[in-house]
Amino acid sequence: MEFSQYDTDALLYITNRPPLVFVEGQGMWLTDHKGKRYLDYLQGWAVNCLGHAPQCLQDALTSQAKKLINPSPAFYNEPMVTLASGLTKHSCFDRVFFANSGAEANESAIKLSRKWGQKNPNAKGEARHEIITFGHSFHGRTLATMSASGKAGWDKIFAPQVPGFHKAELNDIASVEKLINDRTVAVMLEPVQGEGGVIPASREFMTALRALTQKHGILMIVDEVQTGMGRCGELFAYQLSGVEPDIMTLGKGIGGGVPLSAMLCRKEVACFEPGDQGGTYNGNPLMTAVGNAVLQELIKPGFMEGVREMGEYLSGELLKLSERFGMAGERGEGLLRALKLGRPIGAQIVELARDLEPVGLLLNSPRPDLLRFMPALNVTKEEIDQMIGMLAGVVERIDAQG
Ligand SMILES: *Cc1c(COP(=O)(O)O)cnc(C)c1O
Repeated sequence: MEFSQYDTDALLYITNRPPLVFVEGQGMWLTDHKGKRYLDYLQGWAVNCLGHAPQCLQDALTSQAKKLINPSPAFYNEPMVTLASGLTKHSCFDRVFFANSGAEANESAIKLSRKWGQKNPNAKGEARHEIITFGHSFHGRTLATMSASGKAGWDKIFAPQVPGFHKAELNDIASVEKLINDRTVAVMLEPVQGEGGVIPASREFMTALRALTQKHGILMIVDEVQTGMGRCGELFAYQLSGVEPDIMTLGKGIGGGVPLSAMLCRKEVACFEPGDQGGTYNGNPLMTAVGNAVLQELIKPGFMEGVREMGEYLSGELLKLSERFGMAGERGEGLLRALKLGRPIGAQIVELARDLEPVGLLLNSPRPDLLRFMPALNVTKEEIDQMIGMLAGVVERIDAQG
């Protein structure tokens, strides 16, 4: 089929998409409408943690679809209970609320914090509601999560914002301390800023933040929508620094490609009352069955060692590439990594890599001088070598053009 035969104008215009329609995916590979294959280092934006269409997800979806798809969120169902129990067993949290997207999980964390701030008022007896977030952070696209985000320009697009969010600077504990007042109820951060350009919060910063929040009686929320579910070399990225937050949100990887997200909290913070929070699809068995399949895969002996090993390998290869082409190095945790290009050629690389023949390469450039890599967690050495080879060819061509 030719691209022009698709009625793509029927879709509301929200972004510039290349003239490709993807029809198949398997592991690290995608196939478009013309049968051309692409090595996929986006994986649905760090979503497909086991690659495209892994057997365990196909099995979970088909067997659950035959059994029970939706009894209503007003009732318990087996996959929902099993997944909640699995997530609490493998984290420092006691309670789980399921939702459908990362933004929705973060909304839930914001609501829970505000509720907790009403139940734990300041010395004047006033409810506490202010949440400290960070410059360059990304927490989602609902009005509250956009207001929480530190993306440039986002304070204006749909003004007025939801009030109560104040922005500190990542890895600068004094900037957080300055913003704390008697209305502050929580600090929310990504352990590694993903959309912001793969910027890790340092171990020291995480530790200092936990101490500071405890000292002031405020909650620490980690948005692990991108960093969670094995992406950073531990099941959850907060484990890298050894701190135990009060609330964590998960999205992306937890569904391995299907819409599933979660908010987890310690039982001391679990203060919602009936009517406070809910949602039609929350905890539906079809999606939570997939979540169970993903979690079972991640906790298999040796799986996380594999993620760490491939993360180190990718890091080393990116560093070699950086040295070879006079770039500015690389950074990241586990298999969430970025190559610092040292020049604003990110968009050009993305386009040339995609157009390579006979097979293309899908990359992401969150900033003009940066490439972000989000492969499947079971990516192989060969698939890393192949990507590095293709990327080197593209950079060579750009450099040759001057
Ligand atoms: C992607 C992302 C979100 C938003 O998730 P959606 O599923 O798109 O709503 C929130 N926080 C972080 C850190 C993310 O990377």
